[in-house]
Amino acid sequence: MKIYNTLSRKQEEFVPIDGKNVKMYTCGPTVYHYAHIGNLRTYIMEDVLEKTLNYLGYHVDRVMNITDVGHLTSDSDSGEDKMLKGAKREHKSVLEIASMYTKAFMDDCSKLNIKWPDTVSSATDNIDMYIQIIQKLLHDGYAYQAGGNIYFDTSKLEDYYQLTNHKIDEMVVGVREGVEEDSNKRNQADFVLWFTKSKFQDQELKWDSPWGVGYPGWHIECSGIAMKYLGEHIDIHCGGVDNIFPHHTNEIAQSEAYLGHKWCNYWVHGEHLNDKSGKMSKSKGEFLTVSLLEEKGYNPLAYRYMCLNSYYHNTLTFSYEILDGSSREYQKLKNKTLSLGMDGDIDNSKFQYYDDKFREAIGSDLNTSMAITILYEVLKDDTLNEHTKRELVSKFDSVLSLDLLKEKNTDIDEELQNYIEDMIEKRNQYKKNKEFDKADEIREELKNKGIMIKDTREGTLYEIVR
Ligand code: AMP
Ligand code: ZN
Repeated sequence: MKIYNTLSRKQEEFVPIDGKNVKMYTCGPTVYHYAHIGNLRTYIMEDVLEKTLNYLGYHVDRVMNITDVGHLTSDSDSGEDKMLKGAKREHKSVLEIASMYTKAFMDDCSKLNIKWPDTVSSATDNIDMYIQIIQKLLHDGYAYQAGGNIYFDTSKLEDYYQLTNHKIDEMVVGVREGVEEDSNKRNQADFVLWFTKSKFQDQELKWDSPWGVGYPGWHIECSGIAMKYLGEHIDIHCGGVDNIFPHHTNEIAQSEAYLGHKWCNYWVHGEHLNDKSGKMSKSKGEFLTVSLLEEKGYNPLAYRYMCLNSYYHNTLTFSYEILDGSSREYQKLKNKTLSLGMDGDIDNSKFQYYDDKFREAIGSDLNTSMAITILYEVLKDDTLNEHTKRELVSKFDSVLSLDLLKEKNTDIDEELQNYIEDMIEKRNQYKKNKEFDKADEIREELKNKGIMIKDTREGTLYEIVR
């Protein structure tokens, strides 16, 4: 498999440390609010990566954190703790909102067919691990105590900027906007490992530590959880592009200083989903969630289909027009795959041919849109019998996860299906021409035959009830 590695800034052949076993870590959500569909684009990419590795014969051990403490609104060391902000907004405790939004996130993942990682651990459940790491960093001279907080000393590293290749002054904008300098820091890029003193004295969750009662910084939690559950070496670490700096840059700094060796070989980042006004956010414009899409009549898997048709390395701009198009295409595709029968014996050589093509596509830096094109090729290939097509669709869907063979409408034969589709087409034409009486006649005629139709954003769906 070829994968783009942010660390080397090029596509590389993927070679795991331990043969066929892959250790993968993905940054999880900060559970202070619902995830927006932009966040979920990143989780879809990570899901596709895990399933692609499985498709290619690897076993994946995957760990994800749930951030329920320490993530400040600036992504850096200033602003309010996002969890505390969420709790105040909803007049609940931090743990209450953590549990509520973790559950909401699980529901979103399930609706989008995103597999829940094998190990999911909350930041607040691993405090001992962070303390252990920070103690060693202090002992080895990589960290210092100032003004009550513990900071990582970035000047102690030869190549703090290895992941970004940019110096901090080039990245100041956006990351640290409106941030006043912390005079306790020895270097501008230093970051907090453990807070005991901060402007927000009302911090709800605090723990004892050798440096006083306090709480961990955001970055240390991912290093701690990854090392605790995956050991000293990992193959892949993922997140959205906004995580490259400062979050992943700081994770590398503290992990490698602690371990004394290279920590992670491949860094994989998903580009953002934007809205028309730019970066998607939870506070401005329409807050796009999976539930909102459902309320508007969309199937969440139509959104997954929309994401899979784009390359994860490119930004994708959300619009309802694009989603409408994806919904229609998705429903048409599904109508086709659901109608596939089991006729004939599987043609092994053709099966192999298409299976190889599909592997090649997804193994080329997760080229999911090419993988979907191959799926269409299979469906169009007149030399393939239905059984072979069906098996291929089933196998491809282990990565695409579009439920292509689920919820079979009915066991209708091809002739009936063609008839219904023709009638729906005719009716749509009448509706377009505003000949509503004729359109209603068709609905009536179908109904008399036990065929119920329903107009949705994904086009006209039908169900046979007789
Ligand atoms: P958060 O819950 O803010 O920690 O973000 C969860 C994940 O979503 C992280 O991996 C982010 O990098 C990613 N992310 C944030 N905004 C977007 C966006 N607009 N599009 C895609 N991914 C995003
Ligand atoms: Zn992280």
